Amino acid sequence: LAAAGSEGAIAVYDEATDPHRPERLSLMGDLLRALEQDEGLALHYQPKLDLATGRIDSVEALVRWRHPRLGLLPPDAFVGLAEQTGHIRRLTRWVLATGIAQASRWHAAGRDMRVSINVSARDVEDAELPRRVAALLAAHGLPAASLVLEITESALMRDPDAALPVLERLAAQGIALSIDDFGVGQSSFAYLRRLPVRELKIDRAFVAPLAQSPEDRVIVRSIVELAHALGCRVTAEGVEERAALDYLATVGCDHAQGYLVARPMEAVALDAFEPDLEFAVGA
Ligand code: C2E
Ligand code: MG
Ligand code: MG
Ligand code: MG
Repeated sequence: LAAAGSEGAIAVYDEATDPHRPERLSLMGDLLRALEQDEGLALHYQPKLDLATGRIDSVEALVRWRHPRLGLLPPDAFVGLAEQTGHIRRLTRWVLATGIAQASRWHAAGRDMRVSINVSARDVEDAELPRRVAALLAAHGLPAASLVLEITESALMRDPDAALPVLERLAAQGIALSIDDFGVGQSSFAYLRRLPVRELKIDRAFVAPLAQSPEDRVIVRSIVELAHALGCRVTAEGVEERAALDYLATVGCDHAQGYLVARPMEAVALDAFEPDLEFAVGA
């Protein structure tokens, strides 16, 4: 299959991913309406467990869409399409505004909670992004240190010349950059060294099978070492088993995220959420 948008690739028409199919176009029309009217879109927040303290000190914001006809849609049903059709910047603007507003509510309530927001290739290629984020932080009185932007390796590598100055400006503003799904993309270590990266998130492909797979244990341990040597913190995503959590704590991984700790939830549910005391592994 040809990767859409990659130069030199052979374009093979694939009906399943064609963004111009009528029902996809109408889905994007619905998305624009939902964004305009701020209706149906919501952020859920998945806790990240600090393995040294056993406490929840950060969350990842994950978008959901309650579509009037199709019901509750996961991001995979519309984020990729929004990327292909160019609507992603509008969606990201909504996610940033909503996530920063929620983070400032936690901040005002005295709850120390960093909020991670996922951004796409087109977002970090947008020279306006740093100013827009700064304006939102100022409007909500949120310190930049409370915000993390997550981006995948492949999104970073799409147009590095456009992304690098944007990421540097965001970093200069005090916003942390996190590499999402680390290990499954086209990582360039040279690039990693040049970027102002503060966190690596180990892809769940390596984390889920930890208990059964010596190979994955070696990979995870190596990523933790690499991250720390580069001055980054590490989160393991997709932690579903206690044995995986224990291994991650043993090798010094900083944060664990996954269904074992908690599923993504609404902000109000998070206010009442306490992690299992059993997770206070390092305390
Ligand atoms: P991601 O950023 O890597 O987010 C992690 C995904 O893994 C989430 O799926 C989360 O619900 C799921 N997950 C968490 N723990 C576990 C676990 O223990 N086991 C399993 N099997 N899955 C787990 P979700 O919410 O469906 O999001 C999928 C992807 O959609 C995200 O991957 C991210 O790339 C994208 N996405 C989500 N929200 C946004 C957004 O606001 N903007 C953009 N641009 N992309 C988003
Ligand atoms: Mg993410
Ligand atoms: Mg991820
Ligand atoms: Mg992912």
